[in-house]
Amino acid sequence: MQRQDKGVRIFRADWVLPIVAEPIRDGAVAVQGDTIVRTGPADGVVAAYPGAEIVEFHHAILLPGFVNCHSHLEYAVFRGLIDNLDFGRWLLQFIDYQRRLSAEDYAVSSRLGVSECVSSGITTVADSMYSGTSIDAIKQAGVRAIVYQEAFGMDDSRLPETMASLAAAIDKLDEQQDELVDVGIFPHSTYTVSAHMFRAVAELARERGKRFGSHLAESKDESVYIRSGSGVLAMDLREKVGWENIMREPFGVTPVKYLQQWDVYGSDFIAVHCVRVSDRDVEILARSDVAIAHCPKSNAKLGCGIAPLPEFLKAGIRVGFGTDSPASSNIMDMFGEMRTAIFLHRGVSRSAAALGADQCVQIATLGGARALGMDDRIGSLEAGKQADLIAVDMEYSHFTPIHDPCSALVYGANQEDVFFAMVAGRTIYDKKVLLTMDEEKTFVEARAVKAKLWG
Ligand SMILES: [Zn+2]
Repeated sequence: MQRQDKGVRIFRADWVLPIVAEPIRDGAVAVQGDTIVRTGPADGVVAAYPGAEIVEFHHAILLPGFVNCHSHLEYAVFRGLIDNLDFGRWLLQFIDYQRRLSAEDYAVSSRLGVSECVSSGITTVADSMYSGTSIDAIKQAGVRAIVYQEAFGMDDSRLPETMASLAAAIDKLDEQQDELVDVGIFPHSTYTVSAHMFRAVAELARERGKRFGSHLAESKDESVYIRSGSGVLAMDLREKVGWENIMREPFGVTPVKYLQQWDVYGSDFIAVHCVRVSDRDVEILARSDVAIAHCPKSNAKLGCGIAPLPEFLKAGIRVGFGTDSPASSNIMDMFGEMRTAIFLHRGVSRSAAALGADQCVQIATLGGARALGMDDRIGSLEAGKQADLIAVDMEYSHFTPIHDPCSALVYGANQEDVFFAMVAGRTIYDKKVLLTMDEEKTFVEARAVKAKLWG
């Protein structure tokens, strides 16, 4: 949607991070309609567009909006509900809580989730959705998204019906697709979707030109289940959801190898987590051009482990950060993900060379865009790209003084330091106010939903 009728607006700040070039001190970004037309030193940009409207952010860092490669907005109200269980037990308890909420509750939760995303500088979100509610919240908020319809199914005797209803759900979502919101498919995991269904979903996705993805190699429980058909996911989970009479063979391989055997992989697939991976698995993922959503906080909190991000990067895999849902990570804060990643990877490798702050900012923006196949449109501040940008306020003691803006963002910034967000040239967050939704009302409604969970 070009809005050429509008004049050029210039956003000027002490620091501009184009991502594809070095940070610019006293930089500016010129925007026309929904598109960036120029990025560079402020003097040059201002001189190039005489008479343009100039928005002065002064003591701020201007950068591309964050690309959150994995979330479940509909689970925002589950924040802090189950804080001290390992993955398998956490999942079992989560299912109990999940059943307590209505569709309207999930709609409230989705609005809470998307408002948190915007206020923490996320302008693109890859959201895995089961309730059907997050797409409305995303459209209302005005963020860019891939909304993945989540799918489950272990009973191959019902596969035709399961696939027909999934295809119908996709058709319905397609009606809501527009220039900001794409529809994808998300078969939930290796332990909730059968191998035959994984293959059928891959075929459906490719037939319809949809991006798809799955949680993969997240926990030891999953590895044990795929390799030997045992453990908490084989016993307790299957009993809980009524799959205990469905026979499953142990597959004897890693989860990554397992999906390769079923022809699931391609450039359109995003694997979320990839914590429990061997060197051979990393090779498989790289060779298949699978993208990875790295969710370091969620993985650490659930005791799953640490995904080998430096190895992914070395292998040339496209990687973005994912906040996962507040049910497992509490907050959807990309600064927190960047900070957790850099500390974990430097800590375990005992090397400050493991990951750099500039690399973290790159992964959180352009890296995520590449992982989602959107880097032709977003992820950097350069002419021709969509005007998706955010501004971070540096008027605080934790930003004083600044030597390196990437270092300041990764080691020092928090989600509440973001004060401005724009998507496709439209300002959706300004002076810390969400312009597209009634945030206060959402908070009140979310507290009422919380009572159902905790009551
Ligand atoms: Zn997830």
